[in-house]
Amino acid sequence: MKLARFALVAGALSIFLSVSAAPAPSERIALRTIAERHGMTLREDGEKSASLIGPKCSISCFLDKSSYVVGGICVYGQGAAERSPRGITIPLNDWKYVLEPLVYGRKIPEVRCICIDAGHGGKDSGAHSAALNLTEKSLNLDVAGRLRKLLQDKGFKVLMTRDTDRFVPLEKRSSIANCGKADLFISIHFNASESKTAQGIETYIVPRQGTTATARLSSPLRAQDNVFCHNNKFDDHNLLLAYSVEGKLIRLKGVRDRGVRRGRFCVLESVHCPAILVECGFLTNPTEGAMISQSPHRQALASAICDGIVSYIAGYRL
Ligand SMILES: [Zn+2]
Repeated sequence: MKLARFALVAGALSIFLSVSAAPAPSERIALRTIAERHGMTLREDGEKSASLIGPKCSISCFLDKSSYVVGGICVYGQGAAERSPRGITIPLNDWKYVLEPLVYGRKIPEVRCICIDAGHGGKDSGAHSAALNLTEKSLNLDVAGRLRKLLQDKGFKVLMTRDTDRFVPLEKRSSIANCGKADLFISIHFNASESKTAQGIETYIVPRQGTTATARLSSPLRAQDNVFCHNNKFDDHNLLLAYSVEGKLIRLKGVRDRGVRRGRFCVLESVHCPAILVECGFLTNPTEGAMISQSPHRQALASAICDGIVSYIAGYRL
């Protein structure tokens, strides 16, 4: 009982500390300052963009977008670049929590056990394309099975949240990973949109405490955005893992980069290790859907996710 009370106090304290440590969302930093402090060259590319070119990578910032291009891969932040008397500025939070971890990397803890989560299943079919007769739950399971084999061949222990067509509640999926002491959690999904032109791959991580999901960037913070979830302990590692996996996936032929994004997915929030959710393409896009229906493409997707995991573990490098 005493221990439980201590844990509660410690939890409350960590929430307090992490809130007070983060800069206010309105604080901004000039690109010139970043360039001076980090040995980078600042180059204005035109009216609407500027780049920071460093010894390890280049970062492109845009005056009309909340995303950056880091080492050729799209990564969403919280706000667009702006012109000011100090030159072009970006949100300080984006430098501290999005760009700086990618430029400098982090020490990666040992990974032995990986939990693969094939999204949906059973009564929950997920996305569907009537035109191509594609059902997400089956495709998720197919790619998850291929990924399991690839990871097992590399010597990893693999846990599956499901390996048949059955319904598994979201909280059960996180608890399979937590009870099995998984070191990484990879959730596999496919996307759908009312717009047939929507296409490409996106990789999600949970938003940092006090920040919004990518889809809500222009909306005010909600109460749940200020809650510290279990998975927030792994914010930097989530980002590095998502970046490595997205970076491998977008090298596949015919695939578009929709970026590393943030979303408040329940299945990620309560996982006690670095966790990502990969949307492997749009079933509703005629070209991409046709590609996804081919098993060599699904094998290539699994192989790229495996390569991304391995390159993250090997020591994240830009
Ligand atoms: Zn899904």
